[in-house]
Amino acid sequence: MKINEFLKDKGCLSEYDPNTMSYEKALMLLEQFLTVTKKTTYLSIDEAQGCFLAEDIKSPVNVPNYNNSAMDGFVFRHKFIKPKNNKFKIDGKILAGHPIKNKISSMSCLQIMTGGMIPRTFDTVIPQELVNINHETVEFDFKPKVAANIRKIGEDIKKNQVAIKQGVCLNACNIGLLASLGITKVKVFQSIRIGFFSTGDEVVQLGSKIQAGQVYDSNRFLIKAFIKKMNACLVDYGNLSDNKTLLENQLKKASTECDLIITTGGVSVGEADYMKEILTKIGQVLFWKMAIKPGRPMAFGKVKKAFYFGLPGNPVSAAVTFLQFVKPSIRFMMGSAKFEKIPYVQLKINTEVQRKKGRKEFVRGIIQGQGKSSSVMPLLQQGSGMLKSMSDANCFIVFDADQDLIRKNSYVNILPFDGII
Ligand code: AMP
Ligand code: MG
Repeated sequence: MKINEFLKDKGCLSEYDPNTMSYEKALMLLEQFLTVTKKTTYLSIDEAQGCFLAEDIKSPVNVPNYNNSAMDGFVFRHKFIKPKNNKFKIDGKILAGHPIKNKISSMSCLQIMTGGMIPRTFDTVIPQELVNINHETVEFDFKPKVAANIRKIGEDIKKNQVAIKQGVCLNACNIGLLASLGITKVKVFQSIRIGFFSTGDEVVQLGSKIQAGQVYDSNRFLIKAFIKKMNACLVDYGNLSDNKTLLENQLKKASTECDLIITTGGVSVGEADYMKEILTKIGQVLFWKMAIKPGRPMAFGKVKKAFYFGLPGNPVSAAVTFLQFVKPSIRFMMGSAKFEKIPYVQLKINTEVQRKKGRKEFVRGIIQGQGKSSSVMPLLQQGSGMLKSMSDANCFIVFDADQDLIRKNSYVNILPFDGII
């Protein structure tokens, strides 16, 4: 659906309050209005990490592509093995990469290494630790299961089976899997173009001397660093002063050059906060106030064909709104199979928290300890301008809008900052 049609449709508006948009409702609306890029390209698997697959990958081969041994041991024909008193002559050796083709008599076996190809008519491997080896024979007193310790042809992936689905963001393991199938190139969605500028008369550029009443432009570097990690293409429009005409012109220019525009600052209700007013004039605004903390002022809308996120100026609010709304939006626009909601894990909180109901809250915290003794500690400094505690934290503790008292040692929702892949 188009944003302007939605805004005209009274039926859609009944539960829509752009002034206190809930986190959940905002995500639903984003999923509804954002559009996925259609542009695709072929990349070598060496360059494709972080890109979203634009096609299902069907395996051109069976994996493994031959029956092989899962252990270092001996390979037998199961039908010749008795429950007791087995004695087989060792008739040769199979190394990985060196299959054997000669005929082997019925009461013989072969020594085989992990990855060695199982010869025709053989079907069972016994690890070398479970047999007695006497010069040229092996002896043992049990009957293993048929096909024991054999990795069957196609047991991991069958030829023509879908190995990786369209919409997956390729990580190191996906790339390893593609290589194991012999695939060198993949069709992926092209990166979207993201335009960014920070706003504010008080914001100065790095390299200049800072005066009282000024702040360094941390948002620009913060947002750029987030986007860099996402493989997206960033157009950096620098920093603009709080000048309505300048801001309007830059927004118009960016809308012809980019698929998505992000700005920081100027979206709240201060004297020099012009972004919402400009957006209303030259585009459409879907929401501009969120029931979240930090990050209450955040605008979302559209200018021409470009989507627009106006993030708050306070650096932590900018980081929170970027991670919660903009990042999943970028991934969705870049071809992610679905609009991803980041899964929470739960941990015990090591202190009591008393809070006001009404807004969903993202508290900076530190996960400490391991396993059963692990817990999460909220950091003391939670101001929306305090980047130090954001930089010290390794997770968000997420409180729902209707939570007030959180008891010590109760389980709370956690969003860890880093995964392992
Ligand atoms: P605003 O949202 O424009 O009202 O700004 C809110 C707060 O964020 C103010 O204290 C600004 O000085 C600060 N701020 C705005 N832009 C930036 C920026 N690019 N880097 C660091 N702080 C900023
Ligand atoms: Mg400002």
